Amino acid sequence: MRTVQVLIIEDERKVADALQRGFRGEGHDAVVSATGEDGFFRATTETFDVVVLDLNLPGRDGLQILETLRARGNAVPVVVVTARDAVDDRVRGLDLGADDYLVKPFSFAELSARVRALVRRGRSDRALRRSVGDLELDLVTRRVIRARQPLALTAREFDLLEVLMRHAGHVVTRAMLARDIWGEASFQRATPIDNVIDVQIARLRKKIDDPFPVRLLHTLRGVGFVLGETPP
Ligand code: CA
Repeated sequence: MRTVQVLIIEDERKVADALQRGFRGEGHDAVVSATGEDGFFRATTETFDVVVLDLNLPGRDGLQILETLRARGNAVPVVVVTARDAVDDRVRGLDLGADDYLVKPFSFAELSARVRALVRRGRSDRALRRSVGDLELDLVTRRVIRARQPLALTAREFDLLEVLMRHAGHVVTRAMLARDIWGEASFQRATPIDNVIDVQIARLRKKIDDPFPVRLLHTLRGVGFVLGETPP
């Protein structure tokens, strides 16, 4: 397994040191933030594979950190660490977007296993998500989001967008769309399928582009379509 970058947000020095030693002993990079403010700052300005977040912190507490991270669209995997008597916090933590939790006291081996699972999952999730600019498409949930607004696409529009995203920045010809989406082996201009493509592209554009200031779906007259942040 490659080196994992871990941020430990924990004010109890002994616990933080033990976790840091544990991760380093496994060949990973681990840094410690001892306050909520510092932890939040690092989580938003640096890139980590996983955050280990103690809930009971001086200053900004763990739940506030989690809530603000998620509200800003930061999807870093978070393992929440709580005291045994704080079951409500644990539930709230999961509600607020924690990926896993551990109750203190826990063994390092247990935490390490959870972190490994999250990092693995994070990687496979990423492969099933595509994005162009602020437009995101999730192949598992079949959800499409732009500027954090969910968009309601039909199955056909979704498939069309998926093909365009797969070739983002490159031309997708009408023949490719006819083949990949409508299963047409051969394609000619000014046929019914050509009209269908025009109609579907117009509908997709209306949903993914019209309400937003930056246009992502570009038409290359006589050639095809390009999905990208800059016009081809
Ligand atoms: Ca604490």
